[in-house]
Amino acid sequence: MRYLSTRDPDGVASQGFCDILIGGLAPDGGLYLPESYPQVDTETLATWRRLLAEEGYAALAHAILSLFVDDIPDADLRAICERAYTAEKFGTEEIVPVTRLDRRLFLGHLSNGPTAAFKDMAMQLLGELFEYELARRDSSLAILGATSGDTGSAAIFAMKGRRNIHVFMLSPLGRMTPFQQAQMFSVDDPHVVNLAVDGVFDDCQDIVKQVASDLDFKELHRLGAVNSINWARLLAQVVYYVACWLRATEEVEDPDTARVSFVVPTGNFGNVCAGHVAKAMGVPIDTLVVATNENDVLDEFFRTGVYRVRTSAETHETSSPSMDISKASNLERFVFDLLGRDGARTAELFGGLSTGQGFDLSSDPAFERLRSVHGFLSGTSTHADRLATIAAVEKEYGVLVDPHTADALTVAFDVLDGGEVDTPLVVLETALPVKFAATIAEAVGREPEIPDAYAYLRDADRHVLEIDRDPELVKKVIVETLTAHQENS
Ligand SMILES: *Cc1c(COP(=O)(O)O)cnc(C)c1O
Repeated sequence: MRYLSTRDPDGVASQGFCDILIGGLAPDGGLYLPESYPQVDTETLATWRRLLAEEGYAALAHAILSLFVDDIPDADLRAICERAYTAEKFGTEEIVPVTRLDRRLFLGHLSNGPTAAFKDMAMQLLGELFEYELARRDSSLAILGATSGDTGSAAIFAMKGRRNIHVFMLSPLGRMTPFQQAQMFSVDDPHVVNLAVDGVFDDCQDIVKQVASDLDFKELHRLGAVNSINWARLLAQVVYYVACWLRATEEVEDPDTARVSFVVPTGNFGNVCAGHVAKAMGVPIDTLVVATNENDVLDEFFRTGVYRVRTSAETHETSSPSMDISKASNLERFVFDLLGRDGARTAELFGGLSTGQGFDLSSDPAFERLRSVHGFLSGTSTHADRLATIAAVEKEYGVLVDPHTADALTVAFDVLDGGEVDTPLVVLETALPVKFAATIAEAVGREPEIPDAYAYLRDADRHVLEIDRDPELVKKVIVETLTAHQENS
């Protein structure tokens, strides 16, 4: 399998999986996608059903990954999947349990990993893949990132303890929830450096961009990223769409042709883009419902065909903060497919798109295909909706959900009421309530219990450096840390 850029006018698929694993964007600014989506039939799906039941999630992950990866020996790929997806890390043998709330409503639990958010599903695999490939190339990597909460801790927990990887993670000082801070700063590893920046998330992101734009510095220190445009992260996520589909269809009569739909709390379009890939492969997914919060860039796009990047003044700080985005980085992948994989046109639409700008597909034939071919629907919810849904779901079903999952459940109830979808719905749960205690308390009058697996955070030490909003300071920390470790080894 070869990979191409969404902005290549000639559609030349020249890269292998491991070539694009560690790099981020394609040189032309596009995102990588496989030259085609491997097609699965009912027989393959039946095989996968047996595999998941008999050998477990890691075996299913290996079967799916092997369709996309041909530059890692099969036995190694299998071992990578087995190390990434263990019951020890994910709290259950199932890795992604699916529970039933109602006749037509399921929850797919993606947040039982080390940092209690769905980002662990991809990041744990990425950690194994990075370590493997860097060792094979006798190379190393310094990951530089900015986080508003979930991505940073998932990256740190996936990369810590790996000799050939350093992590430098910037976060806005005092702006993550107490649980997120305790978790992220708890890691005591000289290869992991937490930098709390006196500013907001956008300031952190700006610093990362400034540091990474110094190309000599970047190359000299082998700086890399783990952001959501990384194809390997997306591929890891395809696996749980298949696993959720398998588990939600267990009890129906013809399970291997039974269709289900997904409702996905969405920010950067990373999670739901993996659903698009699974559907394009022929997994019987009916509808993909994109659920946003007040930052409704994507709801607007799917309803009207207009995509417009928000300015920072138009980007709201909400109680589902991991969905507070001004643009949806992964949307370009879907639009490329939507336009029949027209790289020139994709480059025209996305190249140089800056804040406040956008494009309009409302009178393009593609607009009709959003729903009819690709099965997309969308909806949005507000702070008040989240609170009401958290309270109602606890009362009705005895289940406490986090605010992001509540965004999706709000939209799921709208879809069920509106009769727009006639299959069962799997709502993807993307975080545990313990990460967002204040909002939970606002909704149900008490803080969520801390699950045993996270009890250690109550009195964990904090390993974090507080710094001013200055890229030169960040560079200095990077140089000093890397130099110290070179001298030690
Ligand atoms: C990152 C995140 C999301 C949004 O996922 P995207 O891939 O950006 O669409 C939703 N919920 C939680 C809890 C997250 O951490």
